[in-house]
Amino acid sequence: MAHQVTLIPGDGIGPEVSEAARRVLDATGVVIAWTVEEAGAAVLEREGTPLPGRVLDRIRESRVALKGPITTPVGTGFASVNVELRQALDLFAAVRPSRTLPGVETRHPKVDLVVIRENTEDVYQGIEYPLGTPETADLRTELRRLGVEEVRDDSAFSVKPISVTGAQRIVRYAFEYVRANGRRRVTLGHKANIMRFSDGLFLSIGRIEAERHPDVWFEDMEIDQLSMRLVRDPERFDVLLLPNLYGDILSDLCAGLVGGLGLAAGANLGWEYAVYEPVHGSAPDIAGKGVANPLATIRSGAMLLRHLGEHDAAAAVEAAVDRVLEEATVRTPDLGGASSTDDVADAVIAHLQP
Ligand code: NAD
Repeated sequence: MAHQVTLIPGDGIGPEVSEAARRVLDATGVVIAWTVEEAGAAVLEREGTPLPGRVLDRIRESRVALKGPITTPVGTGFASVNVELRQALDLFAAVRPSRTLPGVETRHPKVDLVVIRENTEDVYQGIEYPLGTPETADLRTELRRLGVEEVRDDSAFSVKPISVTGAQRIVRYAFEYVRANGRRRVTLGHKANIMRFSDGLFLSIGRIEAERHPDVWFEDMEIDQLSMRLVRDPERFDVLLLPNLYGDILSDLCAGLVGGLGLAAGANLGWEYAVYEPVHGSAPDIAGKGVANPLATIRSGAMLLRHLGEHDAAAAVEAAVDRVLEEATVRTPDLGGASSTDDVADAVIAHLQP
């Protein structure tokens, strides 16, 4: 029977890379019934919202989606579609593996780590008060009433909530992930010395969970220290467990360690739904030119196949990607080549055959 999957092409380079990934997944022989749903810039122009309700309905029906990147419209009053989608479907865990790939020259030859990022709260929850509104003035007054003396009149605010519920489920997910995937270590990143109550809560829940998993080696590290050590010695890390903002930043850093955003795959997972998408954004600087690297989306597609239980097909896609990279003859410009998005997809498809 066909697997039902919603395809959200996205905007910018999204349609180019997601079509490439769809072709590769179809070429594995796994039967997927795709339902295409538009979201992003073009839909905003046509319908006045970048994320129509039917997109969410469709994902709720199929439970699984492959998504291209979507531009965050600036100055339209709309928040990020990506953040909204993750919150609406309660996709609380972002899982982003970074491993050294064959034929991709980097400073560190043996990186193999996974970022697990809390995806629904922290400063990304969208509790924001802009400069100069009555609500912002109310918040300032309330803060003063609570004894906070030094809030400047010309302040804007972004609130950072971290809850026991939110922290507990991502921390538990991370420890389960370690067990289920044959990994061994968890490094929890935080800034609990400064953000004592939000990051402090995340850290204390991490420590409690660590005691329940004596088989998993656990450590915590302040985020600045962790950034420095990742750049110097990424090979010592295994699973990085991070609150939302730090997870966003370090995901790109980790992508950079193994060859860049054109290769970095990811998943957004909740208890009920799973949305697979590359780590990168809509790359407006190269959109429409046919030169975007589709491998991040193709590798996200391999993760999706595994989620569907299609383990052989997932392994075949990953092996084909590795071989294309190893041969180094078909590459997009971000990896120093001159091939097109479609050339790369064709090369991966050609290597799918045993
Ligand atoms: P970006 O990831 O789109 O681009 C950063 C740089 O990496 C650019 O130079 C770009 O050309 C390059 N790049 C990215 N993906 C590439 C690929 N597949 N192949 C070759 N080069 C690639 O980041 P940005 O420019 O900061 O963001 C652009 C827009 O995307 C913003 O509106 C941002 O909010 C949005 N965004 C969306 C998502 C998402 O949909 N999940 C994620 C990140 C950013």
